[in-house]
Amino acid sequence: MTKEIGWNFDNSYAKLPDSFFSHLQPTAVSSPELIIFNEELATSLGLDAGELQSEDGVNILAGNKVPNGAFPLAQAYAGHQFGNFTMLGDGRALLLGEQIVPNGERLDIQLKGSGRTPFSRGGDGRASLGPMLREYIISEAMHALGIPTNRSLAVVKTGEPVFRETELPGAILTRVASSHLRVGTFEYARRLGEEDDVRTLADYTIERHYPNVKADENRYLSLLQEVIKRQAELISKWQLVGFIHGVMNTDNMTISGETIDYGPCAFMDTYNPATVFSSIDRQGRYAYRNQPPIAVWNLARLAECLLPLLHEDQDEAIKIAEGELSTFKDLYHHHWLDGMRAKLGLFNEEKDDESLIGNLLHLMEKHSADYTNTFRALTLGERKDSAMFNSDDFKKWNDLWQERLNRQEKSKESSHELMRNSNPAIIPRNHRVEEALEAAVEREDYNVMKQLIDVLSKPYAYTSDQDDYTTPPDPSCGPYRTYCGT
Ligand code: AMP
Ligand code: MG
Repeated sequence: MTKEIGWNFDNSYAKLPDSFFSHLQPTAVSSPELIIFNEELATSLGLDAGELQSEDGVNILAGNKVPNGAFPLAQAYAGHQFGNFTMLGDGRALLLGEQIVPNGERLDIQLKGSGRTPFSRGGDGRASLGPMLREYIISEAMHALGIPTNRSLAVVKTGEPVFRETELPGAILTRVASSHLRVGTFEYARRLGEEDDVRTLADYTIERHYPNVKADENRYLSLLQEVIKRQAELISKWQLVGFIHGVMNTDNMTISGETIDYGPCAFMDTYNPATVFSSIDRQGRYAYRNQPPIAVWNLARLAECLLPLLHEDQDEAIKIAEGELSTFKDLYHHHWLDGMRAKLGLFNEEKDDESLIGNLLHLMEKHSADYTNTFRALTLGERKDSAMFNSDDFKKWNDLWQERLNRQEKSKESSHELMRNSNPAIIPRNHRVEEALEAAVEREDYNVMKQLIDVLSKPYAYTSDQDDYTTPPDPSCGPYRTYCGT
């Protein structure tokens, strides 16, 4: 007899009108093999980590068996991709169901790479091992950095090849998210749904993510405000660690405020606000410095969908929406500035803080300093021989910073602690991630990856085993490139 794994599904999304999803079974795969498994996450979901790694459990993670209480479905959504509206939907993912976890939270359990769906268009519905492991590593690193994100429970190799430019091993990722509702879900409802679908979806979203606004006079306006607030905070966190999402299409922006879709994302090494990694982003639409304004652009698409719910008079509704969207800039800036102060060990506020921060960033850009390592060095009080630290400009800046630190009442020790908790010693450096993926995919050696995941799970620890992982890539490697369509 098999023991219970601990599934506790309650599938609220499936109660939306039929047009929001397509109910279907995952496509079976020939010989599933568990490659990586997140025991701590499994336990927090109320699942038996041992059972889930047994043959029975792995068959579930591979889509060969549907657990009791699940109701597999592909979600319908649309979205603006690089500014152009398109019908999308889960083309290679299936929501198994919503797990009610021991702390009462409702979390989506989704298989990514689980076969074709009615939304697959020309795609094969599959994913390959490298990109699924990459999503596992980076999403878990983001979680450890304290950034809202979907999580990764497991990656299973399917035993079947997928065909991209070359033949690659197929894989399925189990993704855990507070939901997969996107700006694109609203765009779908508005453009392709029935008359009342946006209201139905908005009510569902409020119930699921923002129950605190349910009784508000205009709860749809409150919903828009809440999403703007969450996204402003999220994007500020990305900027503070140098994370570049790479494909901020509206279908990749969640309503919950979690980071989703780890396709062409990457962390910046050398500080340069114009940094772009994605090979297809030729105009730099999703460059580091553009992430806050692009978030506003995406939120404007959400606001458009909500217009009829904001006011019966359209001109009035547009005015209301514009007013709300204009709040993003200040909300974002407030979070960013708070975060930057913390990165410099500042507890209180002074009016010249912005120029102190701006001047440092300017020096970093001028001297092509490494973003993470600069803040790490300031935290450690180490001034390794570098163009920036040796410059007179930096020495002047440092004097002003020290004076500023001395003007606050808090001790040097508490400043140092604040800096340690705000400046990650390590991030998932692109060359280290690539090295781990190469070992896994080319040589079936998963230890490099497991070690990397382990050090990335404590980014603020400043332990000596992390030192090795702080080295930026050799400049001879050239600029790093990421790819979509994986
Ligand atoms: P993404 O670039 O991951 O945001 O995906 C954009 C759209 O393409 C989504 O609708 C995906 O479900 C779909 N898609 C991506 N890869 C595949 C694939 N291999 N097979 C089918 N659909 C896919
Ligand atoms: Mg996507």
